[in-house]
Amino acid sequence: MAKKGTESDSIQTPDWARDIWPQERDVMSRPERFKYVRKLLVPDGCVFCRARDLGVGFEGLNLFMSKSSMVMLNKYPYNNGHLLVLPQRHVASLLDLSEAEAAELQVLLRRAQSILQQVYNCSGFNIGINQGAVAGAGIPDHLHWHIVPRWAGDTNFFPIIAETKVQAESLEQCYERLLPYFRGIDDDQS
Ligand SMILES: [Zn+2]
Repeated sequence: MAKKGTESDSIQTPDWARDIWPQERDVMSRPERFKYVRKLLVPDGCVFCRARDLGVGFEGLNLFMSKSSMVMLNKYPYNNGHLLVLPQRHVASLLDLSEAEAAELQVLLRRAQSILQQVYNCSGFNIGINQGAVAGAGIPDHLHWHIVPRWAGDTNFFPIIAETKVQAESLEQCYERLLPYFRGIDDDQS
């Protein structure tokens, strides 16, 4: 049993907890993410702007472009189907968007969510923005929404934070699975 101790004792993991808590649980300890972040620091442009310039295609993980917005796969997903919805313009803040851009992004967010719902039959979503480096944005200079599908049995933050969840699908499989649905958006719009 954990016993009450001094303040310095309290920060040490007790033996009973050490046995059940995975050692590699911190997202930020993932070496590929460090590599990714380091790559971002190389001043050869923004990966999102690059994806925009490449256009729809797997090379940029770009699934869809509307007039001023776009949808991409997250290169380092927290779950299968983890999407990014973002403005095409390189802006850092919601407040930098025009009213038209902001409105279009909301429409595209809903469409992306609807597609994930159809394709993955997920029972919930995490949808949000980390705006600014202090808020945890990996790419703080180019605003982006995350949409992360969630399923029953995935009901607490542990699998995501702990990185214990098996990624059942490769990025290629995910891209190919979602692309026809995003192509369908063009047909829906008139
Ligand atoms: Zn950019």
